[in-house]
Amino acid sequence: MKMNRSRSQLFFKEALQFIPGGVNSPVRAFRGVGGDPFFAQKALGSKVWDEDGNSYIDYICSWGPSILGHADPSIFGAIQSAAQNGVSFGIPTAREVEMARKITQWVPSVERVRMTSSGTEATMSAVRLARGFTGRDKIIKFEGCYHGHVDSLLVKAGSGGLTLGQPDSAGIPRALAELTVTLPYNDLEAVRQALELYPGEIAAIILEPVVGNVGLILPLPGYLEGLRTLTEKHEVVLIFDEVMTGFRLAKGGVQELHGIRPDLSTFGKVIGGGLPVGAFGGRKEIMDFLAPLGPVYQAGTLSGNPLAMAAGLMQLQQLEERNGFMRLEELGQILEDRVLATLKRKGSRYVWHRIGSMFSLFFTEGPVRNLKEAMASDRERFACFFHYLLEEGVYLAPSQFEAGFLSLAHTPEDLDLTAAAMERALEKVIR
Ligand SMILES: *Cc1c(COP(=O)(O)O)cnc(C)c1O
Repeated sequence: MKMNRSRSQLFFKEALQFIPGGVNSPVRAFRGVGGDPFFAQKALGSKVWDEDGNSYIDYICSWGPSILGHADPSIFGAIQSAAQNGVSFGIPTAREVEMARKITQWVPSVERVRMTSSGTEATMSAVRLARGFTGRDKIIKFEGCYHGHVDSLLVKAGSGGLTLGQPDSAGIPRALAELTVTLPYNDLEAVRQALELYPGEIAAIILEPVVGNVGLILPLPGYLEGLRTLTEKHEVVLIFDEVMTGFRLAKGGVQELHGIRPDLSTFGKVIGGGLPVGAFGGRKEIMDFLAPLGPVYQAGTLSGNPLAMAAGLMQLQQLEERNGFMRLEELGQILEDRVLATLKRKGSRYVWHRIGSMFSLFFTEGPVRNLKEAMASDRERFACFFHYLLEEGVYLAPSQFEAGFLSLAHTPEDLDLTAAAMERALEKVIR
């Protein structure tokens, strides 16, 4: 029996009259899998309810931020008590200092940090800062890495652009796009060659140290270390975009797992506790190039917003108190064991990737080490898989090219139900 989604359908029809494509961010529109999106009415713990009262085990978790699960009472309490004293001042507050101290403690490469209101702003500012610091114009990014919708970075980008088959956006001046050199991920030789081809011209290399925006792709052994060595040699600013991985995969993100100190890092998602947030930080010498100390301008009316700081600080505190990173790894392992057992029975036409609380199932024989290999996935079969799961009350991201997220609110029972539903769904999509 099909789920009734008539109210969602009505809302979507209405939304189409006022909002381009009916959504405020493209992937939400289900274009990657077909059909119409449901409208969320509420969410609690690991579940989200749609406007028709159907519930789904949610593996998007607001695209990463809701790492404690939805509507965690601690976050709600923090926001409520902060709001009582005013929701925005545009004047420095103690919480901003606390947040900055916390980030610099958890991520040792970050000696100075500035808050923004989105991950996009953070990467945009980090790139400008790297250009201002080095006096160079070109940057290197990698195919399929998504760094927000920044002009310079929307070249061969992942996530929504990829889902819609538009990794390059219209509206970006050619002169600007030409300053972005794009290379395949996980290919050190390509980076070495590019650095030699443009001596003294590359300001920065920016990457997702674990890619979450082409589905989940892990760095090959030695890749990140090699990038650090090459960027040091060529005096290029190394920017780790940890908007997705920061405060999710470890206290200190991927850089902690690999023991690497990038020059700059960008953050967002988890540090906002579900409120709009971003941050960028790194070596003092570089960060001090920012106004009012230095010549690189960067600002924000709502930067360091008291509600976002309160929610984010509470989320980080809860992660620590609840032994969050260890627990998320346990939950990830449980899901992985269940899914791999299923895949074993179904043959080897899938590639499963997981690190901690992030995962992806690619509909390809693999391997999947870069954008090109991810694109070999059978998107039609993924779309069937997605819709079968949705009917069973399991909500994966509506695209082959997005990672799944676990939260501390997911229970082993949720994971069992999910793996069982996946098994039935795979049965259906085998042609
Ligand atoms: C989500 C994301 C961004 C953009 O953050 P927004 O808050 O959506 O602007 C940038 N980089 C990475 C790696 C992301 O996953």
